[in-house]
Amino acid sequence: MKAHIVGGGFGGLAAAAYLIRNAGVSGQDITIYEADQQMGGGFSLGGSAETGYSLPGSVFDSEFRCTFDPLQAIPSASDPNISVKDEFFTFNARHPFNDRAHIIDRNGHVEHSPHFGLSLRDGLNLARLALTPESMLDGRRIEEFFSPRFFTTEFWLLWSTIMGSLPRHSATEFRRYMNRALALFPDLSDMKHVLRTPFNQYQSFIEPMVAWLRPRGVNFLTSALVRDIGFAPSPGRITVNRLDYERDGASASVAVGPEDLVLVTTGSQAADVSVGSMTEAPPPRRSGRTWALWQRLAQGRTGFGNPDVFFGEARVPDSRWVTFTVTTTGTEFLDQLSALTGSEPGSGGLVTLKDSGWLLSLTIFLQPEVIGQPPGTYVWWGYGLYPERNGDFVPKRMDECTGAEILQEVLRQLRFDRQLNTIMRSSICIPCDMPYVNNIWLPRSRTDRPPVVPEGSTNLGLIGQYVEVPRDIAFTIEYSARTAWEAVHLLLKRGPAPPPVFQGQYNPKALLGALKVFICQ
Ligand SMILES: Cc1cc2nc3c(=O)[nH]c(=O)nc-3n(C[C@H](O)[C@H](O)[C@H](O)COP(=O)(O)OP(=O)(O)OC[C@H]3O[C@@H](n4cnc5c(N)ncnc54)[C@H](O)[C@@H]3O)c2cc1C
Repeated sequence: MKAHIVGGGFGGLAAAAYLIRNAGVSGQDITIYEADQQMGGGFSLGGSAETGYSLPGSVFDSEFRCTFDPLQAIPSASDPNISVKDEFFTFNARHPFNDRAHIIDRNGHVEHSPHFGLSLRDGLNLARLALTPESMLDGRRIEEFFSPRFFTTEFWLLWSTIMGSLPRHSATEFRRYMNRALALFPDLSDMKHVLRTPFNQYQSFIEPMVAWLRPRGVNFLTSALVRDIGFAPSPGRITVNRLDYERDGASASVAVGPEDLVLVTTGSQAADVSVGSMTEAPPPRRSGRTWALWQRLAQGRTGFGNPDVFFGEARVPDSRWVTFTVTTTGTEFLDQLSALTGSEPGSGGLVTLKDSGWLLSLTIFLQPEVIGQPPGTYVWWGYGLYPERNGDFVPKRMDECTGAEILQEVLRQLRFDRQLNTIMRSSICIPCDMPYVNNIWLPRSRTDRPPVVPEGSTNLGLIGQYVEVPRDIAFTIEYSARTAWEAVHLLLKRGPAPPPVFQGQYNPKALLGALKVFICQ
């Protein structure tokens, strides 16, 4: 039996680990096809200390049940004597967030109000949405359930900048978040229960997984784009018999037997990501290649979902972020920000500049953020939730800005005018345009994402964030890991089923904590 995994993001790598650990498949019988030059998908690490790093921010909690199952057996990159899971939880126990200035206004004042600014009516509306069955939420938007005032509260600012949601986004996904992340609710401001990786996610998770899979014989085919898969003619059944891919300009076809397994990642939040520089805005990139296979599969077939709900030019305005990573050799920025927020680097979670047009949020990592980062170099990260708006000091859309322009806007927003030239001289700001990063939040109906195993399928499984699994939230590696575990379990009928999704509404501690927000805070 051979297993072909299309996509080498966290989901694809986790699928290989489940095949080996849960289903007893030999690593030598597993091939991962990845269109990019390196594994990792959304969890990438680009650049260097000299040219400026490019990496994503980091938000996890303790209930990533499928994620940490394989990671408990995989040695960490920094210390092979402990597992990735142990390293993660030890790090977070030693360095919990204690955000003392999450929301800052244009005058540098920290905003924090009783009950996060929520009224009893807002609380009732939240409860009403949480209690509405998903079957009644198809296509509906968050803004349909709340008054305009709700979207000006501290709660909404905290929530939307941590989770990424906009008022026009999916009520279904928002409901799932409320239930899944209810335990985070009382500590949204100081982010005490939000966890992060000890280093960037690529080195904390992806590198150790690849290092564990490689000696087990897993075949990694990078720069290999799977163009199509073929099916055996059998009415009412879906059985893959061929996989076509392109690599180094050459096409190849692989025969797939009925006993083999094909697991396809149907899309990527990191689709068409484009990186700029200090002097250049990220050039627009529109390859569409990460969802092209899903489109082919869905064409003329029912039960394969609707990729157009998530991908394509019309979706970009509601799903884009611009992120930026700053690599600096001076301490001025970190010193100034610590003085403003009262938080040392690495303890402050997010800092949201609430009056900035782009709605900027910054995160200052505990240093080093990159294994091998030279001493005297510091890395921090930020993003804009509204990149299509003009900046207040740089009168341009954020996605059209160079790294220097973005850094200038941040420094002026913070009123660091006196230090501006020094910070600019010692910093490299790398902007990154992510046109589809927030598309998992777009309003959807229940059939827009296909099931992990399409009806009638005998050897095809679908994995990743654009596949439907009940209750879980999609802006997480946990979601992709869950789809991979489920696919292996359902198709091979080996190993345990995935553990249930954590649901805060049935957890007395989480429920009590949420109620206290309205009564005590
Ligand atoms: C800026 C940012 C910050 C994030 N922060 C967090 C966080 O803190 N916590 C968290 O849990 N999650 C976070 N995420 C989400 C996380 O990145 C995703 O959940 C995760 O990467 C999904 O894994 P995946 O394997 O499903 O998809 P991806 O990681 O997107 O990987 C899919 C891969 O499949 C490849 N592929 C697609 N089609 C084909 C094909 N036909 N042939 C060959 N290869 C193909 C793509 O090239 C891609 O590499 C973040 C994402 C971003 C972008």
